[in-house]
Order: sequence, then C-alpha cells, then structure tokens
Amino acid sequence: MSGLAIPGILLDIEGTTTPISFVHEVLFSYARSHVRNFLAEHFDSAEVLTDIANLRQDHAIDLMHGLKPPPLVAAARDAQIDSLVAYVNWLMDRDRKSTGLKSLQGKIWKEGYLAGALKAQVFADVPPAFERWRRAGLSINIFSSGSSLAQVLLFAHTEVGDLSDFIDNYFDTTVGSKQDSKSYQRIADVLHLRASDVLFVSDVVGELDAAGSAGMPTLLCIRPGNQPQPFAERYRSIQSFSPMQMGI
Ligand SMILES: [Mg+2]
Repeated sequence: MSGLAIPGILLDIEGTTTPISFVHEVLFSYARSHVRNFLAEHFDSAEVLTDIANLRQDHAIDLMHGLKPPPLVAAARDAQIDSLVAYVNWLMDRDRKSTGLKSLQGKIWKEGYLAGALKAQVFADVPPAFERWRRAGLSINIFSSGSSLAQVLLFAHTEVGDLSDFIDNYFDTTVGSKQDSKSYQRIADVLHLRASDVLFVSDVVGELDAAGSAGMPTLLCIRPGNQPQPFAERYRSIQSFSPMQMGI
C-alpha cells in the first residue's frame, strides 16, 4: 500500500500558516456582515436548505440542553431569515463548530473570495517553504477545524496568490477531532505513510499531544498573536517555516 516512502508534512492553519486574527476578525466578521444578504439571495437553493435544516437540528439540540438560543421562527420568509441570522450570530459568538454553520460560512466566504472581496493571509515564510518542500518531493497536507472547502478557498485566494497547487490533501474534523490521536493515524493511513513519516506542526499543545501519541514527530509553532501554551516546554518550537528552524 505504502509504495512511496516520501515523508509528509501536516500543517494546522490558524496560528500556524495564518494569523489567528485573520480567521477571527476578517473571516468571521465577513460572515456576520454578509449572512443576511446571502440567505436572502439563496434561501431557496437546495444546498442552503440543507444548511438551514442542519441549523434547525442544532437549534433543537441547544434547546434540549437547556441553552437559550434566539428563537427560530417558521413564519414568512423575511422573519425566518431574521431569526436564522440571529441564531447564526449566536453560534458565532460562541465559536461553535456546528455543521450547518460551517457549511453556510463556507458558502459566504466562497462568494467573497470569488468576488475578490476576501484575500487570505499567510505568514511570509509560508510560500517559500511550500516551494522548498515541493522541490524536495514532500507531501504537503493541511489539518484544520475549518471545513475542507474553507481550507481550499483560503489557500487558493491568498494575498500572495494561489497556493493551493502546493497542497496535496485537506483534512477537516470529519476525520476526527484535532485532539484525538486516532485522527492522526487515519490521516497517515490516507497519505499511505507511517505516522512516524509525517511531521505535524501546530500552535496548540493538545493537538501535538494527540499527534505525538499516534507516532507523528511534532513542532510547536509560535506566531505573533498566538495564545501562550501550557506545557509548551515539552515541544521543540519554531517561529517560522525557515529551513534553519524546520530542519527541512
Ligand atoms: Mg491552530
């Protein structure tokens, strides 16, 4: 199965390739300010109806758990949209990763990227590292809690152009939680590599713990704007993807 013994790299996005502020400030505020128009324009499209059905399901679960989300009404179209916007904002205030929300955000961002209104940020050392690793024959892969659609869009529309050609695979939490070691074993299996041949880089110690338990070598990425990590001293850390720091 694993014909090629090519080592692979697995990268987190937020706080690793990309400033956390881009995701939390630029992307989230774009979704907030465009969700109403987006729903009004696409309310009857099959894909958006699926997202709305998922949001209604999440809403029912929130109520069951005794939470107090803003009510979803089933009245006239405009009132429905108003209530969905309020619930979507409530979910985003809590940084919830619900399927309906992520899928809807992905569609809103896609419109923004395609219109040129959104450009993704990557740290300056990221594009040269991608080129270097590609020349060395390494497989370059992403593991992020954002949907794989959101990941593809991000790398295809950066401030320095389309970087998506460098990336071989995008993994999101459909493969499992980022803090569960089984997710990393599954990723290695998909890559047809041994876990020990895949270097995982992230800004979150809990994720490095999980990848390390699966047998992956790890590096802790420390970028401007990242949260200080407990037990950071357990890991070798880097401030950039430079060859000196990464060793590759
Ligand atoms: Mg991160």
